[in-house]
Amino acid sequence: MNTLPNCPKCNSEYVYEDGTLLICPECAHEWNPAEAQEVEEGVVAIDANGNKLADGDTVTLIKDLKVKGAPKDLKQGTRVKNIRIVEGDHNIDCKIDGFGAMKLKSEFVKKI
Ligand SMILES: [Zn+2]
Repeated sequence: MNTLPNCPKCNSEYVYEDGTLLICPECAHEWNPAEAQEVEEGVVAIDANGNKLADGDTVTLIKDLKVKGAPKDLKQGTRVKNIRIVEGDHNIDCKIDGFGAMKLKSEFVKKI
């Protein structure tokens, strides 16, 4: 099973790891996947209406969400300012008043 990304230059799928670097045998491109993530535009978050979200957007929650370890739920309609798009299942990084830093799923928010 190959879980490595394709080569960003030639899209080859024969990329292999060498220490912290990824190397493409077809075009000889070498890169550090940790650095590549920051410049890559491949991280995409789509809200409940199908709109693409970007860093700095303001969104509202479309449903109540349970928060692990918090005494109360996040309420539908809660406004979340200045989101940051990150990779992963919970692809929005944000701070919410009264809750602090947390991660949300983009499918549970909509862009204002
Ligand atoms: Zn390549």
